Amino acid sequence: MNVPKKIVAGFLWQIGFGPLMRAVREPKRLALCYHSIADSGQYDHIRIAIKDFTRHIEYLAARGYRFVKCSELAAAKDRVAAIYFDDGFRDVFTNAKPILKQKNIPATLFVTTSYADGARDPAVYASWDEIAALGENWEIGSHSVSHRKLSKISKEEVRQEMIESKKLIEEKTGKAVTAFSYPHGRASSETEVVAREAGYMITTADQHFHKVRPDPDDSLPVFYWKTLKLW
Ligand SMILES: [Zn+2]
Repeated sequence: MNVPKKIVAGFLWQIGFGPLMRAVREPKRLALCYHSIADSGQYDHIRIAIKDFTRHIEYLAARGYRFVKCSELAAAKDRVAAIYFDDGFRDVFTNAKPILKQKNIPATLFVTTSYADGARDPAVYASWDEIAALGENWEIGSHSVSHRKLSKISKEEVRQEMIESKKLIEEKTGKAVTAFSYPHGRASSETEVVAREAGYMITTADQHFHKVRPDPDDSLPVFYWKTLKLW
């Protein structure tokens, strides 16, 4: 990230411009998109440090956000935030889960089923046993079968990705799957229709909430600005 821009972001926040903007435009519903939560590892571009993840949660809690699962976002009447994790990294279990448990915060895990099947490094991605053992505070959603860009494949293939992953996750976990997260964030009005036909009630392309994607090198003020749709 551009360092001067980051310094300006911090300065503007410090002099009161941030809290002022917050007063007028803080969203009622947020969805926070994470991948890997770890202090080291090979996926640097999507890895958030444990300390930063904790700070994000503490900020949102201090702002009065109530934490919910993704499928609860649309119907919520109060100020809510949904924390979710794409892909199914094992470090979410080792690093994020204990923090969330200690604070009694629910979260959503979007599983790419081929990864859980072992198509990619099993040391990096969680197994079905681990996913199935997540407690009641966890919603399990689908992040497709293959993690392909759904905007680049045929409608029929999109349908298969959505239906097969949903079915498999439900078989493996015994929980209903009603939330879908788009691989690479690639959605369209057509994929949204297919998602509804496949039985999903909510997707990460929905307009019910403001989606925030923290990046590894975001300073804390940059995170604040992102929650206000101003970064
Ligand atoms: Zn992904």
